[in-house]
Amino acid sequence: MSNITPQPGILDIAPYQGGVSHLPGIANTVKLSSNENPLGPSEAAKEAFRRTAHDMHRYPSSDHAELREAIADVYGLDAGRIICGSGSDEIISLLCQSYAGPGDEVIHTEHGFAMYRISALANGATPVEVPERERLTDVDAILAACTDATRLVFLANPNNPTGTMIGASEMARLADGLPDHVLLVIDGAYAEYVEGYDGGASLVEARPNVVMTRTFSKLYGLGGLRVGWAYGPDHVIAVLSRVRGPFNVSSAALAAAEAAVRDIAWADKCREMNARWRSWLAEALGEHGVPSDISHGNFILARFASQAEAEACDEHLQSQGLIVRRVAGYNLPNALRITVGDESSCRRVAHAVGQFMATAR
Ligand SMILES: *Cc1c(COP(=O)(O)O)cnc(C)c1O
Repeated sequence: MSNITPQPGILDIAPYQGGVSHLPGIANTVKLSSNENPLGPSEAAKEAFRRTAHDMHRYPSSDHAELREAIADVYGLDAGRIICGSGSDEIISLLCQSYAGPGDEVIHTEHGFAMYRISALANGATPVEVPERERLTDVDAILAACTDATRLVFLANPNNPTGTMIGASEMARLADGLPDHVLLVIDGAYAEYVEGYDGGASLVEARPNVVMTRTFSKLYGLGGLRVGWAYGPDHVIAVLSRVRGPFNVSSAALAAAEAAVRDIAWADKCREMNARWRSWLAEALGEHGVPSDISHGNFILARFASQAEAEACDEHLQSQGLIVRRVAGYNLPNALRITVGDESSCRRVAHAVGQFMATAR
């Protein structure tokens, strides 16, 4: 026996359940459980990654200046207010570490991304779950949940796993209505999929209490390299920069991300392909009696009549080599989250769901 115990909160964290990636004994499987880009990264990113092999003995840049410049160029932002992390997961963790501890509250929404709760608990803070309205962010409910103890509000827009999003005026109303001791974190992991949407950047520039997080893991297809970034007011970037490790992003990840963000043609192609097959898939599932909300991300939240039906459909999909995501852990037991794959994957999913529904009811 020992008296070695972790910090309060840590044993309340349910271990993270990632998307399944293999089905033993089944050939020709396709993984549609982690919102990965079916086209993969741009050729330019792969080439930049390969070139870094020669310099692996060197420590990476600690100021990330080149990547920040590239992001600033492409998105029209101020490079001085960008910080890079090992995935946006690290940025979420740095925000909790910097702003929320024991006795503090961290707000997330009913079907919000799991990392908000995990990071809050890891830092001893109390996660507070706020209801959504039919799978859509409810600004009034968030404002009503704020107390003197609230430090952070995390909101993914578009949200994962619902795929829904609120508009600019609702987001501005939220930022305006928060008490001045609360920092609003707009998680833009799927912002690149939304045409004409800045992910919250203009709100960051207009206000002292808004931070936007972004990732290279989704549209840019670099989930395996772990690169994310945030755009925030000077005072927040200065705080996060003190807390982050000086070499938190590897040289390979920095180089690939820089090439990826500058390859605008590839990003456009991926966005267009996603939009096309996302609407095709949603329509095909709808015709089989499986509805979904309009999704703004690279996945669809397919809704079934019951948890039993959702699980039975998942089992049928698995028997056909199709791996999708159960989302009971996101308070959505009746649903399955299906990443929009390439044409052949979308056709296989639609066909298999059709087979299942023909016998299910
Ligand atoms: C995938 C995802 C992230 C991303 O994470 P990385 O750590 O950058 O890979 C962040 N937020 C949401 C809502 C996501 O779905």
